[in-house]
Amino acid sequence: MNLKSERRGIHVDQSELLCKKGCGYYGNPAWQGFCSKCWREEYHKARQKQIQEDWELAERLQREEEEAYASSQSTQGAQSLTFSKFEEKKTNEKTRKVTTVKKFFTASSRAGAKKEIQEAKAPSPSIHRQASIETDRVSKEFIEFIRTYQKPGQDIYKQCKLFLDTVSHKRDLSIEEQSECAQDFYQNVADRLQTRWKVPPEKVEKAMDEVEKYIMTRQYKYVFCPETTDDEKKDLAVQKRIRALHWVTPQMLCVPVSEEIPEVSDMVVKAITDIIEMDSKRVPRDKLACITKCSKHIFNAIKITKNEPASADDFLPTLIYIVLKGNPPRLQSNIQYITRFCNPSRLMTGEDGYYFTNLCCAVAFIEKLDAQSLNLSQEDFDRFMTGQTSPKKQESDSFSPDVCLGVKQMCKSLDLLSQLNERQERIVSEAKKLEKDLIDWTDGITKEVEDIVEKYPLEIKPKSQALAAIDSENVENDKLPPPLQPQVYAG
Ligand SMILES: [Zn+2]
Repeated sequence: MNLKSERRGIHVDQSELLCKKGCGYYGNPAWQGFCSKCWREEYHKARQKQIQEDWELAERLQREEEEAYASSQSTQGAQSLTFSKFEEKKTNEKTRKVTTVKKFFTASSRAGAKKEIQEAKAPSPSIHRQASIETDRVSKEFIEFIRTYQKPGQDIYKQCKLFLDTVSHKRDLSIEEQSECAQDFYQNVADRLQTRWKVPPEKVEKAMDEVEKYIMTRQYKYVFCPETTDDEKKDLAVQKRIRALHWVTPQMLCVPVSEEIPEVSDMVVKAITDIIEMDSKRVPRDKLACITKCSKHIFNAIKITKNEPASADDFLPTLIYIVLKGNPPRLQSNIQYITRFCNPSRLMTGEDGYYFTNLCCAVAFIEKLDAQSLNLSQEDFDRFMTGQTSPKKQESDSFSPDVCLGVKQMCKSLDLLSQLNERQERIVSEAKKLEKDLIDWTDGITKEVEDIVEKYPLEIKPKSQALAAIDSENVENDKLPPPLQPQVYAG
């Protein structure tokens, strides 16, 4: 399996990141390939059409009902029939959105899952307190900032208060409608600053950032991953998909990043941290900033590895790899939230817009990654997906460079341990052999000694007389000279 083959699967032409309508702004899968502006136009058209159709349907039903009523004076059954039809339609409309979320949970797990959701929706008192402290802080900062704008500032503040008051009475609107309210509001405030108050563009942009921060900090808990949408279901689906793809290596994605280099591995860790951090931010622009920070770390990692500036073709696969490695929490909810409530001008142009569009692309790719885009055979892909085997097992002899240092160290240690084990076994067997040799040797010696003893038995002879008394009966005693006598010398 040669993984270093030419890049095949993941390639996005830069023009594909732009709006389908060719207006030059960045498009987005969440807006079906349109930019925010064109999407709103399309959405408006579709909504107008829907309203028209609903209206026509209502009129038709009304007519039918009236006709039925007229004829029911004689035949009673007909009226209740058409009325029940109308009722059915109405309840269908109402429950459609709720059932998609409910359907996700199987009957057996429904009770548990519901409880979990409720717990999740009711944060602990400390989290709640923390959130309200943050809201207060943001409000104070906003007021201080807006003061520097004097009269136009007062106007903005009034508009914001009015907007927050209005939306608080519109919580039962669909999330698309709430998003539209917010987008309209951004548009109106920006227009007002520019045309009525003649504020210069760069100051308008700065003010708009603060406006977004102020209103979205307050709205966050109502409009982030709301229960009326299937955002949560999508989050879980993406998370599951990423987990199923845990075996994907940088080689398969043709990612030009070598984590062997400590500096690069550092960048990769930072990029992952940034993308995970996105979920903790409340303001859409702060979330966008996390994506931008992550992307810059990716560009750096590529640059250090390749020793030349990264190209856009290198970036997307690496971003996919980072998302797969990080599995960021509530990814779809965050993307949806940014799409719905960020100041649209940020998403349509500039680096934030560019990186955001790439992230949406990366998620879309992850959803449809297949054997071909990973340079694998269908059989290998299926076996990896079902967990029958993993690419790491297949090429365990040689380390693939993506394996992190810790894992590599562990593999080396395991290798060393098995070598040690082998040596220990050898020592034990040699020791056993030595023991046997020693026993054999002892036995051999014993046998040899016994043989000799047998061959030359020990004979104990009777006491000899000479031994009994050395001097007593020495016959030649008298031939010995007399013993020396001590003598005294004078003098
Ligand atoms: Zn457009």
